[in-house]
Amino acid sequence: MERSFDVVVLGAGNAAMCAALAAREQGARVVVLEAAPVETQGGNTRYAAGQMRNGFCDPRRLRELVDDVDDALFDSLDIDPYTPEDFFDDVARLTEYRTDPALMEVVTRESFETLCWMKRMGVRFQFSLGRQAQKVDGRFRFWGNLPVEVWGGGEGLLQSYNARAGELGIEVVNGAMATRLLVVDGVVAGVEVAHAGKGPGRYRARAVVLACGGFEANADMRAKYLGPGWDLAKVRGTRFNTGRALKMALEVGARSYGHLSGAHSTCWDTNAPEFGDLEVGDSYQKHSYPIGIMVNARGERFLDEGADFRNYTYAKYGARLLQQPGMFAWQVFDQRAVPMLRDEYRIRQVTRVRGDTLEELAAKLEGVDAPAFLATVAAFNAAVPPGDPPINLGTKDGRCTRALAVPKSNWAYPIDRGPFEAYQVTTGNTFTFGGVKISTRAEVEDEAGAPIPGLFAAGEAVGGLFYHNYPGGSGLTAGAVYGRIAGRQAATWAAVG
Ligand SMILES: Cc1cc2nc3c(=O)[nH]c(=O)nc-3n(C[C@H](O)[C@H](O)[C@H](O)COP(=O)(O)OP(=O)(O)OC[C@H]3O[C@@H](n4cnc5c(N)ncnc54)[C@H](O)[C@@H]3O)c2cc1C
Repeated sequence: MERSFDVVVLGAGNAAMCAALAAREQGARVVVLEAAPVETQGGNTRYAAGQMRNGFCDPRRLRELVDDVDDALFDSLDIDPYTPEDFFDDVARLTEYRTDPALMEVVTRESFETLCWMKRMGVRFQFSLGRQAQKVDGRFRFWGNLPVEVWGGGEGLLQSYNARAGELGIEVVNGAMATRLLVVDGVVAGVEVAHAGKGPGRYRARAVVLACGGFEANADMRAKYLGPGWDLAKVRGTRFNTGRALKMALEVGARSYGHLSGAHSTCWDTNAPEFGDLEVGDSYQKHSYPIGIMVNARGERFLDEGADFRNYTYAKYGARLLQQPGMFAWQVFDQRAVPMLRDEYRIRQVTRVRGDTLEELAAKLEGVDAPAFLATVAAFNAAVPPGDPPINLGTKDGRCTRALAVPKSNWAYPIDRGPFEAYQVTTGNTFTFGGVKISTRAEVEDEAGAPIPGLFAAGEAVGGLFYHNYPGGSGLTAGAVYGRIAGRQAATWAAVG
C-alpha cells in the first residue's frame, strides 16, 4: 500500500493536531498517522487536565479566551498579571537556567496568541476555579499563574481539534505506527508504517512532522536514558509513546538534545496500573502534599513539601520518590487538611489508610518503620510556628519549620488533629524531557546544526525546553506553539521546497 500527501503528521495528540490544522490552513493535503486505535487515540493529551500556561499580561485579556464568564464572576477573581517574560523566567528558574533560550522565547512570546488561535479552531477555555484557586472571603485567589484550562480537559481539547480536522478534510489513520523515515537524496520523502492487522505501508510526502511523543512508555529506553529504577516507574499516560520519534530521527542523522536523562514525574498512586487509565484520567496523581507531610519507609521526611506552590514542585517530586527505599512514600494529613484535599483524593481507586490516633495510623502505614514515623511527626510538630490561622494556599504564607534538617517552608501546621489519613504514592512518569533538536522554525536539525530537509517536530518529541523541573501547564502550550509552527513550515516547504 502506498499513498501520497503534501504533509504527513505522526501522532494525533495536541502537537500533531495543531500541526495538521495549521498545515491544512495553508492549503496542504494532510494525513495524520496515529499508532493507537480510535478508542485510545490522542496520546498523553487525552489524559491531560488541560491547564495551559500563557503570558496573558493583563488578566482582563483572558476574557478573549473564556466566553462563559459574567462580569460578577470575573470581578471576583484575583489573578496576578503574568507576562511572557514572567513565563520565561519561571521556566528558566525551574530548569536551573538550562532551557534553550531561543526555543523557549518563542513558546512564551507566542503562548497567548496561540491559545487565541486554538479558540478559533474551536477549543473552549474556562477559568480553572477548582484546582488553581482557593475561595477566601468570597473571592477566588489564583496561585501559580495558571488561571485557564481547556473545557473538558484533554478529552475536550481533542474533540475540538478532531471536529475541526473533520471540517477541513484532514484524514486520520488509526493503527498506523510509523517505523522509518523515507529519505531520497538527503531529503525526507515520507514514512513507512506498520498498520495494525494490515501489514506495512508507505506514505509519501514532501514534509513529515514528528509529533509522536517522548519515550516514557518504553521501559527499556527509560532504564537506558533516565537510569536505574526508571524501568519500574508507572506511566501516567499512553502506552504508545515508545520513543519512535527519537529513534527514527536519529537514524536519519538528527541531533538528540536536551535533558535526555530527565523526566517530568509526579506523586502517583502506588497501585495505579502500568500505563494510564482513561477512566481515571489524571486522578491517580496526589498533589495535596503542600498541606501535609511525606514520609518514606524509614519513617523520615525527605523533601520540602511547602517549597513553593504545587505548580512549581510537583513535576520534580516523582523523581525524589524513585530514590526512596522501596520507591514509595506515604502522604499524611490531619483534619485541618483533609477537607481541603484535591478531588483526586476522593476517587474509588485510591491507596488510603485512616487512623483515629497517630499510633493507629502508624500501624497501618505498610512498609514504614512505625516508631521512626511517630518520632518524625513529634519533631515536625515541635518545629512548626505557633498560631493556627486557616490554611491559605493562595499565598506562600511563610509558615516555615524551625531547625529541622528537612524544612517545610510554607503551610507548616502540626499533624495533630485526628482522625488522620495517609495515601501511598510512587513515581508516575508523565513524559521525558529529551528529544530531537529543532530550530525556532520547528525544523529538525542534524548533528552539524543544519535543518534536515522536509523534517519538522513538535511536542514531547522535542528536547531542550525542560530540564530537571517544569512549571505546570507548559507542555500543552509548548506543543501547541511548536505544533502550529511545524504545520505552517511543513506546508510552506511542501509548496515551495
Ligand atoms: C495524566 C497527565 C496529565 C497532564 N496534564 C497536563 C496539563 O494539565 N497541562 C499540560 O500542559 N500538560 C499536561 N500533561 C502533559 C501533556 O499531556 C503533554 O505535554 C502533551 O499532551 C504532549 O502532547 P504531544 O502531542 O507531544 O504528545 P501526545 O499527546 O502524547 O501524542 C503523541 C501521539 O503520538 C502517537 N504515536 C506514538 N508513536 C507513534 C508512531 N510511531 N507512529 C504514529 N503515532 C505514534 C501517540 O499514539 C499519540 O497520539 C499531562 C500529562 C498526563 C499524562
